[in-house]
Amino acid sequence: MPIETVDKIWMDGEMVDWADANVHVLTHSLHYGLGVFEGIRAYETDQGAAVFRLEEHVERLFLSAKIYLLEIPYTREEIAQAILDTIRVNKLPSCYIRPIAFLGDGEMGLNPMNSKVRVAIAAWPWGAYLGEDGMKNGVRMMISSWKRHDPNIMPPAAKGTGHYINSSMAKIEAIKSGYDEAILLSPQGYVSECTGENIFAVRNGVITTPPISAGALEGITQASVRSIAEDQGVDYQVGHLLRSDLYIADEAFLSGPAAEVVPVRSMDEPVIAAPGPTTTAIQSTYLDAVRGKVPAYRHWLTNVDD
Ligand code: PMP
Repeated sequence: MPIETVDKIWMDGEMVDWADANVHVLTHSLHYGLGVFEGIRAYETDQGAAVFRLEEHVERLFLSAKIYLLEIPYTREEIAQAILDTIRVNKLPSCYIRPIAFLGDGEMGLNPMNSKVRVAIAAWPWGAYLGEDGMKNGVRMMISSWKRHDPNIMPPAAKGTGHYINSSMAKIEAIKSGYDEAILLSPQGYVSECTGENIFAVRNGVITTPPISAGALEGITQASVRSIAEDQGVDYQVGHLLRSDLYIADEAFLSGPAAEVVPVRSMDEPVIAAPGPTTTAIQSTYLDAVRGKVPAYRHWLTNVDD
């Protein structure tokens, strides 16, 4: 999907024209993949554009940076404000937002500690990441032949740019094999997550999602799903899943800011009746909550114009 361009990108403290938000070819992070980023959405609500779980995403950006000893030269408040400013200046009623902290040019070699940490924030309109049909009828999943990172190779708590080589390999394999999205197992053989989403299996009315020890990112959308499920009286647990648990699940679904809440239609070949009642209930509450239509979850939104 080509990106729909907008006017401005926030870069190192300033709003620059979209076309001028460039980096040098010797940018350190381009060569060695050390950078951290976030994916966030803002939605159109009756109070204008509002960012979903802004504070949590900014916090995770800083925690990812902490793991890699990157010092972001701004405060959390400055980054949160810059995100709101980027949406406002581009007059976006709803959008996807991509903050990234990376190492600039000027130093080469594997010691990253002398490189300048740079930060950019872009926002643009972005529709359903796994497609409208996927949102409605579910996506077709493939268990990837690629494994998720061992936690001692790539720390799962960090949303690191270089981690996503693994996701891209799995995505390529899934698409070339005729599926929509991949599920990666941990090196130990447990279900971990998808290329850019957490995964949930529903069996006998209980939702189970893998722990971060299986290599999954600790999801912010996942935490929202948990609140919605528990508020609806659905049992929710964090626990290891085997590949066969996915095959025999009554329902399964994915969550992430880009994908939102998406039902799974099939897992390799076994077909899951999609979308099932638990998935549908959580999906519809989530899609209302992000648009400010559920008072109990209004605190998850930060208005762009206050
Ligand atoms: N896992 C991976 C690998 C992801 O890239 C994402 C998207 N950030 C998620 C899970 C979902 O995480 P969250 O809802 O916290 O953004």
